This record gives sequence, C-alpha cells and structure tokens, in this order.
Amino acid sequence: MRLYDTMQRAVVPIVSASPGLLRIYACGPTVYRDAHVGNMRTFLLTDLIRRTAEFSKVQVRLVQNITDVGHMADDTGLGGVDEGQADTEDRVLQQAAIEGRGALDVARQYEARFHQDLAALNIYPADAYPRASESIELMIELISKLLESNNAYIGTDGSVFFDARSFSTYGELSGNKLDQLRPGHRFTSEVDTAKRFHADWALWKKSGPTRTQLVWQTPWGVGFPGWHTECSAMSLDILGTEIDIHTGGIDLRFPHHEDERAQSNSIAGHEVVRNWVHAEHLLFEGRKMSKSTGNVVLVSDLAARGLDPLSLRLAFLQHRYRQQMNLTWEVIEGAQTTLTRWRARVAQWANSPSAPFATDAVQLVVEAFNEDLDTPLALQQLRAVERDTELSDGTKFETFAHLDRLFGLDLTRDVGRSSAPTSLEVEGLLAERAAARANKDWSGSDRLRDVLAELGVVVVDTAEGQQIG
Ligand SMILES: [Zn+2]
Repeated sequence: MRLYDTMQRAVVPIVSASPGLLRIYACGPTVYRDAHVGNMRTFLLTDLIRRTAEFSKVQVRLVQNITDVGHMADDTGLGGVDEGQADTEDRVLQQAAIEGRGALDVARQYEARFHQDLAALNIYPADAYPRASESIELMIELISKLLESNNAYIGTDGSVFFDARSFSTYGELSGNKLDQLRPGHRFTSEVDTAKRFHADWALWKKSGPTRTQLVWQTPWGVGFPGWHTECSAMSLDILGTEIDIHTGGIDLRFPHHEDERAQSNSIAGHEVVRNWVHAEHLLFEGRKMSKSTGNVVLVSDLAARGLDPLSLRLAFLQHRYRQQMNLTWEVIEGAQTTLTRWRARVAQWANSPSAPFATDAVQLVVEAFNEDLDTPLALQQLRAVERDTELSDGTKFETFAHLDRLFGLDLTRDVGRSSAPTSLEVEGLLAERAAARANKDWSGSDRLRDVLAELGVVVVDTAEGQQIG
C-alpha cells in the first residue's frame, strides 16, 4: 500500500515495523457534541486504510482515543474552532454547563452517539477506545519522564510545560518552525506568562478553585491534562514505540500532532510514528462547517431526510481523502441513486447461475485502493464491471460481493429481498421524489422515477400526486 505521508510530503510505500501487522493510531472525537460529517470523512480514511490492509491479509491493530477531558475551546481541534469562542474553557465542561449535567454524563452520551454514527457508515470499530479521563496514570508517568529528561519543566503557575526548544526537529511535520512561531501568532493563541517560551505547551494544567469536575491529584498538585498529552500516553502504552500509521484530520497537523510527535519521540528516543496520514477539509454546500454559521450536518440529518447513511460513504468515496471536497445534498442524493441501483442489480444478478468473480476487475480495484486510496478510480472500475456486456451476471454478482469488503456499501443488502413496493426503501424513494416535485426539481424527479423503475416500481403522476401504476 502507498499513502501520502504528511511528514515526507510524498506518496510513500507503507512498510510496517512488524511484517504482517499494521499498527494504526487514529485521533478520535472530543465528546462534547455530535461528530459532524466532516469528522466522519476523517474516520472513514482510517477505515479505508484498514480494509485495504485486511484485504491483503495484513492484520490491523487500531486504537482510537476518546477525548473527554483537556480539549480546550481555543485548541485547534476536530472540525476547527468556532469563531468567537476563543476562551480557555474545557469543551466538555463548557457543554456540561450548557446542558446542566455532569461532565462525564455529557461525554458518555456523545461517545455512544459517535459509535452509532460509525456503525451507520460501516466503519469497523477499533480494537481499543481508551478514554483520556481513564488514562490519567499513564499521563502522569509520561510527564514525569519528560521532566526527568529535561524536556519539560514546571512553570511559574505550577503547570507542567513541554520545552519546545528541547526537541530539535520541532516543526518538521507541519512546517511551522520555532523561529516562525512568534508570540501572539494565531497558532500560539495561548500567550501565557507562566511558560518560558511562547511555543511551549502545557502537558498538565494546574486547576483553580472554580474547577471541581475532571480534576486529579498529581505530584504537581490538583489539575488536568493538556489535550496533546493523552495521545502520546495512550498510543505508546497500547501500540508501543513503533506506530506504522497515525491518522487524523488535516487541522490536527498543528499543533496537536506536532506536539504529540515531540512528546512521543522524546520518550522513545527515536521517530515513533512511521507515517502521518491526514484527511483534507470538508466543505458543505460551499462553506466550512461551523456551529456559528449554522452549517453543521450530522449523520442523523441524513436519516431525517430519508437518506441511507451509506450514500454519504459513497459520496466520500467519489473523492480522494486528501482532496478538499464540497459536499452537497445533491451529491448525497446522487450517491443514493447509484447505491439503490447497484443493490437492485446485485439482487437481480444473484438469481443467475454462480460464476467466479472477474479477477482482472478485482485486481484493478485493489490496485486503486493500494495507490493512495484512489477511491474515485476504484468506483470507475466497479462501474465498468456493471456495464461490461462480456461478463455474466453470476460473475458480476461475485465481483460486487467480493469488492464490497473494500467499499463497505452493503451492496448485497437486497439479495433475496422481495422488491414489493411496500418496502421501506421504496417508500423512502417515493417520499424523496414527492419532495423533489414539490421543489420543482424535475431532473431529480425523473432520476428517482428511473431508480424506482429499476426496482420494478412504475410511478404515474396524476392530479392527486404520484401513484404506483
Ligand atoms: Zn490525538
């Protein structure tokens, strides 16, 4: 497999430290709100890497953290910072105050929803989901070691800071070199007199008397961890000092991953992460997704519109993970049309005499996945199989079924299912078409009529609305 490595700024072959085993660490969600579809695109990246490896019989060990403490509102985090929120509140505590509940109550609820969303998108669960709040001992151990090795110091306010200048290659991942990072620069919004140097960051923060939740007793007094500390502590503990691939959204490259790299490498004495792989930003209807502009779309919003969440997965696959993508409702609806058609065809093909899958086509798709996850090309190859008049229906069925282990689109879902017009799917399509007609979206309406026709449902438009003929 080859992937674009952010550190090397090139597409490189992935060579794991232990042959036959791929150790992956994925930065997980901060559980103070529902993850939006932009976050889902990042989580899908990890899933695609995993499926590609497993398809080639490589074993995958995947760890994804759950951030339930320490992620401050002014840290650049998953999905970016909402403008006008640049204070220093812990995001989970902030949300707990808004909802009038305990911090961990809030965190566990959003964590559960995160798992539901992953399942809806056919993203395989990780092998471990360590929580920051339950890894405090590990973090204390890590910080103690960094203090011993003089990579960290206690600031004038009692907090523990990492000494950025003690790590000579700081900035190599993001290109933000220390001499370019000036005090008050937008990347170092934390102008803090307690630390020695503007680019240093808190590994542990001493808490004031007003903070009563999510605080722990440590050798440095009562406080809570800095956000970057958890990923080093958990990844080193669970995966060890050789991590083959570290994934995350592109906005995590700096400061989160830059700081994590400095911490982990200082502990291990060598480069811990062999490859950094980042997913690009997602725009929705041409705009950045942000709470302040009311432009946040969740997986649950798809279901509310009668859309299959896997149509979102297909829409993502139509773009490469490191292209900036503009997602729209129209794109998702188009993907739903394709998905419905494929499932209907696969169900038809399943009735034909069985035949082996098309080896050449499978190889082309596997090669596309292996070449930096070229999913648009892989989908083109799948469409070519669909159109190929030389291939038997039995072969088409086996090819689609076999490749679905890579695509994860439930392409065989309708096999053996009666296409009676009372099925939920047909009702959903009818409702979608009625909405398209109400919006005078005639091309959408025609497209949906074709999809329904493929399912054996003939729609007639009458003065009373659409009816099944
Ligand atoms: Zn992380």
